[in-house]
Amino acid sequence: MSLDLKALVRTIPDYPKPGILFRDITTLIEHPEGFRESVERIAAAHRGMGFTHVAGIEARGFIFGAGVAIALGVGFVPVRKRGKLPGQTIGQNYVLEYGVDTIEIHADVLSNVHKVLLVDDLIATGGTAIAAVNLMRRTGAICDNAAFVIDLPELGGAAKLESEGVRVESLISFE
Ligand code: 5GP
Repeated sequence: MSLDLKALVRTIPDYPKPGILFRDITTLIEHPEGFRESVERIAAAHRGMGFTHVAGIEARGFIFGAGVAIALGVGFVPVRKRGKLPGQTIGQNYVLEYGVDTIEIHADVLSNVHKVLLVDDLIATGGTAIAAVNLMRRTGAICDNAAFVIDLPELGGAAKLESEGVRVESLISFE
């Protein structure tokens, strides 16, 4: 495993608004070896640790999280935006730059016998991931590990997650 994953991420300036450098993972997942190695490296860092589930955050976290769940031989929990899951849900609010959003999981999927690895494509401020960890923990499940393909360390999200007792792994970082 020696691919330069960072070189496979495309940077798109001024998306979704002026001044933002968007890190586009579609170019990484279009590359068969790049996609496989991203998933395998996250899985390799978490094998043999007793996880029962991988939780992926909508939408790009589904892409990597599903692969990691298959590689680890565990189930996958979709963490969805409000109103998308058909069964009874529990939700967690989190603050966005403008306003508040809610993520949800099915109410009956996790309990105190489960141990969950959270996966998303990218961590920036950490707001989304911290909300997901809190949501998982409210079920009684252990959620002390999170993995991201990309970390933006200047935005401090990984450090914030670590201060909540979550061990963070990321494959690539953009300063
Ligand atoms: P945070 O809550 O950490 O500030 O933002 C992380 C969330 O926003 C993740 O779910 C991620 O998918 C999305 N996100 C924010 N900026 C980017 C970006 O530049 N590239 C990608 N691929 N996702 C981003």
